Amino acid sequence: MTSKKLHVRTGDTVKVISGNHNGVTGRILRTIPAKGQVVVQDVNMRKHHRRPSQQDPEGGILTFEAPIRVSNVMLVCPHCDEPTRVNRRHDQDGTIERICKRCDNAIPTAG
Ligand SMILES: [Zn+2]
Repeated sequence: MTSKKLHVRTGDTVKVISGNHNGVTGRILRTIPAKGQVVVQDVNMRKHHRRPSQQDPEGGILTFEAPIRVSNVMLVCPHCDEPTRVNRRHDQDGTIERICKRCDNAIPTAG
């Protein structure tokens, strides 16, 4: 078992901090913990040319986000609006809260 926990979750806003999309901010659509990758909205767009088929008689070009390495993104705190690192704190009911190291506010987990 080598399933790693990622530092970001689906629905988080992240900033890309290296690679081709350095500086771009987007929302996480999907996480792939087994590969250490995330899919970020509007980041690393790829085009896929589709032939016409029965389901899709027109065919055409499909655009989609390709995964990027999770180490290339930083969580953006919704309170201070800056990329940040987080502390983890266990809540009374056992859930883990993520605390922004900059402003000390809890970062909510979307959806
Ligand atoms: Zn903050």
